[in-house]
Amino acid sequence: MSISDHRLETNVIHAGKPSPSIGGAATVPIFQCSVFEHGEGESYHDTVYPRLSNLPNQVALGRKLAVLEAGEEGLVTASGMAAITTSLLTVLGKGGHLLVQDNLYGGTHNFLTKDFDDFGLSHDFIDAGDPASWQAAVKPNTRAIYVEAISNPLVQIADHPSVVAFARRHSLVSIIDNTFATPVNFRPLAHGYDLVVHSATKYLNGHSDLAAGVVAGKSELVQRIHHRLNHLGGSLDPHACFLLDRGLKTLVLRVRQHNDNALAIARHLAGKSQVAVVHYPGLESHAHHGRARELFAGFGGMLSFELRGGASAAERFMNRLELITHAPSLGGVESLSTRPVTTSHAGMAPAERERLGITDALIRVSVGIENAADIIADLDHAMAE
Ligand SMILES: *Cc1c(COP(=O)(O)O)cnc(C)c1O
Repeated sequence: MSISDHRLETNVIHAGKPSPSIGGAATVPIFQCSVFEHGEGESYHDTVYPRLSNLPNQVALGRKLAVLEAGEEGLVTASGMAAITTSLLTVLGKGGHLLVQDNLYGGTHNFLTKDFDDFGLSHDFIDAGDPASWQAAVKPNTRAIYVEAISNPLVQIADHPSVVAFARRHSLVSIIDNTFATPVNFRPLAHGYDLVVHSATKYLNGHSDLAAGVVAGKSELVQRIHHRLNHLGGSLDPHACFLLDRGLKTLVLRVRQHNDNALAIARHLAGKSQVAVVHYPGLESHAHHGRARELFAGFGGMLSFELRGGASAAERFMNRLELITHAPSLGGVESLSTRPVTTSHAGMAPAERERLGITDALIRVSVGIENAADIIADLDHAMAE
């Protein structure tokens, strides 16, 4: 499939839709069906079946996501973890070794540290910001390098051009989890990555009402992952496909508003006497601000900050929020707040958290698309004496 000539704002609405349309419908109707008749001359291999990800809803969505991510082919999955695990199990093959960024989404971290060994797979953690240290970790059976576009919760940005160059030099498959950036802010395949994965549960859907995942990249790779997904069974239900497609239509508008709100809020927090430090790549004080400016179209909707007064101040703050919902997860239209030490990073050893800079006083905010002044008023009220 060729990459569409249209721009992102147009592609989120139109890319991948069936032509001619199905029964004249302006959307792809939900194919709530698991049995499809064989046409004349069709064989068993032509069978349409939900688990095979070949229903019109699944196919149209895969095509749309391929275009949005500038990939040759795309695939939707039952969750972000289905996309990640199926991709890794495919790319690494028998006995493969993975180089992987040390500060990772918790589910991915658990898969590597708890399940990998059972499959005969291995990994080594690398500091994604220190390319000089990667060479020493390469082994004869290293097959891929895996990073996240923006890390959680300190919103650090890996040296992406170096990851791509390193992968090429060592013939590794480069894989990136683009969940935090979205194709509106960063298109990794256009920068040379081989494979993009997403939790579409977050920004791509944007409405906090389903779980889904995405794989996009070179056809050869995506097709191999598709075959494995057919066996492992992590296909996306057609009704969830319909909702995800609907959510995607407003992706560009939403992400721009997330970007604008988060920047305004980060600047506001940076000026507050109660706040010790703000982590947001859009602030000049952020260590990776320059890299973010160079690579990204926007700085995203995720930020974190530390209150002076430590864990007790953070706990008091969380309890006093009214508009902002106290919840893990991210990427929806509504603002959410969480303390990583009590949620996403609770399972990590305190010394390791310390090393990564994830303190007891750290608060993470998934900035929604409400009016920024209302979000700021809630933050101010919650930290007032
Ligand atoms: C949520 C998340 C995942 C996992 O996605 P699910 O849809 O929950 O399976 C993977 N990576 C990142 C960065 C996430 O935020």
